[in-house]
Amino acid sequence: MRSPASGWALLSVDKEPRLKLAVQKSGRLTDPSLDLLVRCGLKLSRGKDQLMGFGENMPLDVLFVRDDDIPDLVQEDVCDLGLVGLNVLEERRLEMAARGATARFETVRDLDFGRCRLALAVPEGATFDGLESLRGKRIATTFPFMLDQFLRRQAIAAEIVTLSGAVEIAPRLGRADLICDLVSSGSTLQANHLREVYTVLESHAVLIRTPVILSAIKSEWVGRLLMRIDGVEQVKESKYIMLHAPRAALPAIRKLLPGSESPTIIPLEGHPERVVVHAVCRENVFWETLESLKKVGASAVLVLPVEKMLA
Ligand code: ATP
Ligand code: ZN
Repeated sequence: MRSPASGWALLSVDKEPRLKLAVQKSGRLTDPSLDLLVRCGLKLSRGKDQLMGFGENMPLDVLFVRDDDIPDLVQEDVCDLGLVGLNVLEERRLEMAARGATARFETVRDLDFGRCRLALAVPEGATFDGLESLRGKRIATTFPFMLDQFLRRQAIAAEIVTLSGAVEIAPRLGRADLICDLVSSGSTLQANHLREVYTVLESHAVLIRTPVILSAIKSEWVGRLLMRIDGVEQVKESKYIMLHAPRAALPAIRKLLPGSESPTIIPLEGHPERVVVHAVCRENVFWETLESLKKVGASAVLVLPVEKMLA
C-alpha cells in the first residue's frame, strides 16, 4: 500500500462533495470506459491527455492514471470509484494476501468490455499434453501471483519468471519455456509463433468502489450512476420492434420475438382483424427472425435501436 506521504494521498485532501473516478489514462480500457461514462450522460470538460477531467453536468470527476494504480487509489480512498480489469484486481488482491493484508476495494459491477483471458501459451513447435507437461518448466508472466495460485491449485511445481512486459518474446530469447499472458484475439500470440493451450482466468472490466462510507450526496450519485450503467448494459443488444399482424397470429408472433416481455397490442384503425405490435426485445433481432415473423403474417416490420432504458 502507498504511504500517506505519496502524491496520490495529497489529491485526497479535496473535500468537495464530488465523486472521483479513476480510469486508465492511455490503453485498452480508456476508450470503452469513457464511452460508458458518455452513455451514462457524463459531459467531461477536459481531454484525456490531462490528469483530471471535470464532470460538467454531474458532481463526478475523472482521474486518468495507469491501470495498475487503480486498485490502490480506490482502496486507499483517494478515488471513490475505479474502472479496471479483473486481472489487475485479482493480481493485486493476491499480492496483498501474500503479505497478510486484505484488499479493501469492493466490486460493484461486472462490465461488458475489456474482455480477455490470462492464458498459457507454448511455442508453436512445442508439445503440450495437458497441465502435467508444465512440471519443471519456466513460465514468463507479468502476473506472478495469479500464476503462482494457479500452479499451487494444480499441484504443479514450475518456475515463474516475472517480467514487466514483452512477455511474448521471452521464449524466443531463451528466458522461458512458455508464457502466461493476456490474450484477446490471439493475433499477438500468432505473430510471435505461440499457441494458446490453457485459460487461467477469464477477465473483463469491473467497477470498484472505496470501502469508506460515502456522504449522502456522493452516495446518491453512485446510486444514480449504477442505475444508468445497468440501463446502458441492458440496452446494448435491445431493439424496439413494431409490426402489423393479424390478431390470430399473435401467439406465434409472441413466441418469435426474442427476449421480449409483454408486448403492447394496439388495434389497427379500419382493420378489425389486424393489430399493431410494439415490443422491446432484449436480444438482437436477426434477419431470420424477421423472415419468420413475415411467414406467420406480420407486415410493416420496423426494428429500431434502443438508446436508453430505465427499469
Ligand atoms: P498501463 O500503462 O495503464 O499500465 P497496460 O499496458 O498495463 O497499461 P493495456 O495493455 O492497455 O494495459 O491493458 C489494459 C487492460 O485491458 C488489461 O489489464 C486487461 O484487463 C484488458 N485487456 C483486454 N484485452 C487485452 C489484451 N489482448 N491484452 C492485454 N490486455 C487486455
Ligand atoms: Zn498496466
